Amino acid sequence: MTLPTLPGHPHVHYQDQALHLDRIPARQLAQEFGTPLFVYSKAAMLDALAAYQRGFAGRRAQICYAMKANSSLAVLQLFAEAGCGFDIVSGGELARVRAAGADLGKVIFSGVGKTRAEMRMALEAGIGCFNVESEAELEVLNQVACELGVQAPVSIRVNPNVDAKTHPYISTGLKGNKFGVAHDHALAAYQRAASLPGLRVVGIDCHIGSQITQTTPYLDAMDRILDLVEAIEQAGIPIHHIDFGGGLGIDYNGDTPPKADELWQQLLSRLDARGFGQRLLMIEPGRSLVGNAGICLTEVLYLKPGEQKNFCIIDAAMNDLPRPAMYEAYHAIVPVQAKGDQAPSRYDVVGPVCESGDWIGRDRELAVAQGDLLAVLSAGAYCMSMASNYNTRGRPAEVLVDDKGAHLVRRRESVEDTFALETLLPAAVR
Ligand SMILES: *Cc1c(COP(=O)(O)O)cnc(C)c1O
Repeated sequence: MTLPTLPGHPHVHYQDQALHLDRIPARQLAQEFGTPLFVYSKAAMLDALAAYQRGFAGRRAQICYAMKANSSLAVLQLFAEAGCGFDIVSGGELARVRAAGADLGKVIFSGVGKTRAEMRMALEAGIGCFNVESEAELEVLNQVACELGVQAPVSIRVNPNVDAKTHPYISTGLKGNKFGVAHDHALAAYQRAASLPGLRVVGIDCHIGSQITQTTPYLDAMDRILDLVEAIEQAGIPIHHIDFGGGLGIDYNGDTPPKADELWQQLLSRLDARGFGQRLLMIEPGRSLVGNAGICLTEVLYLKPGEQKNFCIIDAAMNDLPRPAMYEAYHAIVPVQAKGDQAPSRYDVVGPVCESGDWIGRDRELAVAQGDLLAVLSAGAYCMSMASNYNTRGRPAEVLVDDKGAHLVRRRESVEDTFALETLLPAAVR
């Protein structure tokens, strides 16, 4: 019999036809912790990080994990202990990295809509850099810093106007996009920043999109940014670090993104050729550090054969795994126990939520029965961090596996948890 192949998932494999994450049988995890369940491999995350670290060997570089991809405290703790900084996009994320024990000096703060309260919180925490996304934000950050009597370290996010060749919802580096300052306005924005007493220019950054599977968009963005660095420095404003953002893709469905170390070999030779190889470099990878380190275990509740389609109804739904509904994204779905003796049928794999958009996989060949367990792969990034309570569904538990076993790092949300913040109207207003 042929077992499903799991390319891009070196930490997920079959042994005696049973799916394992590292050395732990998936069935055992589902029995112990229930379903739906997110399970992450510590080794897979550290291996993904190591590829970047190899790529930057001998260079001055800071890896800032873009924590919105997976903001579980245990995951943050793991990366903090491995020396990572963090790219945050809200005051809430700042509180999370603090709770995880991060070095706040290695935190950079991205996002188009930082509030004054968030700026104050980040200045008081002493973060490493604000990645400013508009001229208006420069003015407000300057005011907030002056009120506190400090200088805010700033980088301006430049929109290099390159096509990352990815899904429109996850492309961020083209004109007509809400992110960053247009390339043509960047020099003027730097001159303004340098003139403001509450700001200290430290760097420049860009981030062109997500799930990028080619090298060319990175090379194009790099050239555009380096052109700007030259112009800004000619205007007398030194740029200490250059931050190339995140965005490197993973293998969801036979995708072939460059490996992190090979990508950076190419990017570093371009940097060297242009005389920037010894600068402090920063990157903000998210998905590529965690995406293929996680799976979601789920149980088949019902099989529902139909005239046009067969449905496989599972206990995980769009509130747990929002990417298919949001981006029509593909996640591989594989059996926890492979059954070679049963002919597969074609199913749409759907959740219990009352929406036609609640599908997890379409037209999948599966040999399944009611009560079987399935694993949704590539579920380490932008799944649990985007999960909601829609349909009053408690969010799944999260488990991290390492060589010592399986550790519950977030308990399953109870129904009571989902309405704990609500109150009934008092009698007087009824
Ligand atoms: C989301 C985001 C990232 C990470 O993107 P990935 O595709 O997950 O690597 C990096 N930088 C910024 C500013 C982001 O918004």
